[in-house]
Amino acid sequence: MYLEKIELQGFKSFALPTTLIFNKELTAIVGPNGSGKSNVADAIRWVLGEQSLKLLRGKKSDDVIFAGSDQKSRLGFSTVKIYLDNRSHRADIDYDEVILERTVNRDGESDYRINNTKARLGDIQLLLARSQEGKKSYSVIGQGMIDSLLTISAADRKDFFDEATGVKHYQLKKNQALHKLEQTEENLHQAELVLQELTPRMHTLYRQVKRLERKDELEK
Ligand code: ATP
Repeated sequence: MYLEKIELQGFKSFALPTTLIFNKELTAIVGPNGSGKSNVADAIRWVLGEQSLKLLRGKKSDDVIFAGSDQKSRLGFSTVKIYLDNRSHRADIDYDEVILERTVNRDGESDYRINNTKARLGDIQLLLARSQEGKKSYSVIGQGMIDSLLTISAADRKDFFDEATGVKHYQLKKNQALHKLEQTEENLHQAELVLQELTPRMHTLYRQVKRLERKDELEK
């Protein structure tokens, strides 16, 4: 699914309605430091349902709303809309174009839409997961991410690949299962100790029962 267009209003530094059209194989966005280039990537992450404030480079949820500048006062809402080419019908939806929209206001009320119809975050996540897009945060490679990938330890790098390839989920399950197995083995060991302690007593009790039975018989 190709990203065709993105419309932003009130998102971070984009106070005015802005449309970016990606109609070439490669689109580069250039600008001086702090001009809002990374905010475009943040907007894509955000509209795809990103919940992590850290990944969105914010501290509070309303950090994605234009906070005001010398020329323009702050805005009360932020909205981002992306248009994805779905002629391949990779996304399981009857439209040749998928339009995803996310809006939030300063009261924290948020609204998600798929092709202009109200949706839940889960609907967007499901749609993307089914079409294998945006499932992981690695759909958007952020600034410094490659750098840190090259410099991190081998173990951390393996962690990154595990998550990107989707095996992380199974590893977590495996670790949980191994942990349970360890606990069960420990329980088994405890049970064996108790058994060792009780077995001699059981023999004594067994003999006593036999004697009582014999006594009953004799009395009869
Ligand atoms: P660099 O090249 O240094 O990485 P950049 O072009 O990627 O910079 P961004 O990090 O995208 O720039 O944008 C940072 C700018 O966005 C800052 O000027 C910051 O003040 C502005 N900004 C971020 N959030 C908001 C907000 N909620 N309201 C207004 N401006 C914001």
